[in-house]
Amino acid sequence: MNQHFINGRYVAGQTGETIAKLAPATGEEFTRIACGNAADIDAAVKAAHAAFDGAWGKLTAAERGRLISKLGLKLQDYFEELAKLEARDTGKPMAQARADIDATARYFEFYGGAADKVHGHVIPFLNGYSVSVVHEPHGVTGHILPWNYPAQMFGRSLTASLAMGNAVVLKPAEDACATAFRLAELASEVGFPDGAINVVAGRGHEAGAALCSHPGIAFMSFTGSPEVGKMVQHACADHLIPCTLELGGKSPQIVFDDADFDAAVPIVCKAIVQNTGQTCSAGSRVLVQKSVYDEFVGAVAKQFSKLRAGTPEMDLDCGPVINAKQRGRVQSFIDQAREQGIPVLAEGQIAQGVPNGGFYVAPTLFGQVPRGNRLEQEEVFGPVLSAFSFEDEEDAIKLANSTDYGLVAAVWTRDGGRQQRVSRRVRAGQVFINGYGAGGGIELPFGGTGKSGHGREKGFIALEEFAVTKTIVHKHG
Ligand code: NAD
Repeated sequence: MNQHFINGRYVAGQTGETIAKLAPATGEEFTRIACGNAADIDAAVKAAHAAFDGAWGKLTAAERGRLISKLGLKLQDYFEELAKLEARDTGKPMAQARADIDATARYFEFYGGAADKVHGHVIPFLNGYSVSVVHEPHGVTGHILPWNYPAQMFGRSLTASLAMGNAVVLKPAEDACATAFRLAELASEVGFPDGAINVVAGRGHEAGAALCSHPGIAFMSFTGSPEVGKMVQHACADHLIPCTLELGGKSPQIVFDDADFDAAVPIVCKAIVQNTGQTCSAGSRVLVQKSVYDEFVGAVAKQFSKLRAGTPEMDLDCGPVINAKQRGRVQSFIDQAREQGIPVLAEGQIAQGVPNGGFYVAPTLFGQVPRGNRLEQEEVFGPVLSAFSFEDEEDAIKLANSTDYGLVAAVWTRDGGRQQRVSRRVRAGQVFINGYGAGGGIELPFGGTGKSGHGREKGFIALEEFAVTKTIVHKHG
C-alpha cells in the first residue's frame, strides 16, 4: 500500500518515507501509506501529460464515455470489497460504506453517459461567416480530496474531468486513500490508457502543495476545509489557473409551524448523523419557529437519544470520527458548550464493546443555542446538532443567513408561497423543500457560496468547469 499509482502501475515513492494509517474503529495502525513529495507529483504530472498527448487524448468522446461506464460496471463486481475497504479506512458503518460505493458507481454511470453529449453551438454572425463554439479539455487537472467520502469524492471530482477528456492527478487525503488506489487500479484493468489517472499519496503541505503549484496543472479541483482552500486558491493565482473550491458548511434546516413534523423529524436527525456528522452538507443547525419549538425539538431529542455509535461491523447510526485530532476537536465543541450552560437536550450512546482505542463521540443535541455562539458559526464536522428558535419568516431568513457559509438548506413548510420565498432568499447552493439530501443526487448541481467555496460539481454543469470554451470564427472564402 505504501506506493503511488503513476502511469498505470504502482511505483515506490522517491523518498521511501511512509505515514502510519490507523483504523478509526480501533485506533490501531493497519497499514502505512507513501509520503509523496514534489518529485512524485512531477512524475505523475508528466505521465498525465503523456497520456493526454497520446492514447487517452486520442480517444473519441464516445470511447472515453464507454471506459468510464465500464469502470462503473466493474465496481459492481468488487462492491463488497470496496465497501469493506472504505469502512476500515474511515470507520463508517457498513450501510453507509455500501451507499457510498453505490453513489460512486452512479458517478461513473452518469458521466460515462454524458461524455459524448457535450455539444457546442453555432452563433449567427455577419454574412459570410460561420461561428462555432466548442468545449475542449484543459489538459491535465489536479484534484485534492478530503477523507470523509473518499470513494464518492473520487467519482465526483475525477469522473467529470475524465469525461471531458482531461488526464488527472489526484492527491487523496492521508487519512483515507485506500479506495482511491483501488479505483485507479480497476480503471487500468478496464482499459484506461496508462497515465490517464494518477494517484499520489502524501501530506497536504508536501504532495498537496506541490500539486497545486505545479506548472503542468491547468485546473485544480479542491474539496476540503476553507483554510486549505484559501492556500490552494493562492497557489492557483500564482500561475493563473482556475479552480473550484468545495468547502465546508453550516447548513440550516428551517422548520415552520405548519411543517409535517412526522416527515421532518427523522430527516433532521439523519441529516446530521449521516457519516457521523462528517459531511460538508450536514444539516448541523435546526431553526424552529418559536410557537412549535418545544414540540418539534422535543420530538428530535426523543430520536436523538436512541442514536448509537459503533464499529463498521456493528452498523449502527454512527461510526467513530476519523482520527484522535478530530475527536478532540468535536469533544471541545461539546465541552465548551456545556461549560457555557447551553442545555444538552439529548445524548446518544457509544455502543458497549467498541474497542477502547477507537475515536468515538456520542451524538449530542444542544437546545436554545444563543445567536453568535461558536455552535452557530463554526463547522463542527461531527454528530452535534444545534437548535435555535425564530419568530417569523423574516427572522428565519436572517438566522439561516447568519453564517459565512452557504452550502445547503432545507425549508419545512406546507405553505407554497413561503416555500418559494424562503428558498429564494436563503444563501445556499442547494435548497431542499420538505426534504434533505446531504451527499446524494449525482444529477444535481452542487457547490457553495462564501466560505463554502465556489464552482459547481455534479450534474452536467460540472462538465463545463472541466472544459475550456473556444469560439471559432470562420470567414467563408
Ligand atoms: P483539509 O482541508 O484538512 O484537507 C483536504 C485535503 O487537502 C487533504 O487531502 C489534505 O492533505 C490537503 N491539504 C492540506 N494542506 C494542504 C496544502 N497546504 N496544500 C494543498 N493541499 C493540502 O480537509 P479535511 O479535514 O480532509 O476534510 C474536512 C473538510 O472538507 C470540511 O471542512 C468539509 O466540510 C470539507 N468538505 C467539503 C465538501 C464539499 O463538497 N463542499 C465535501 C467533503 C468535505
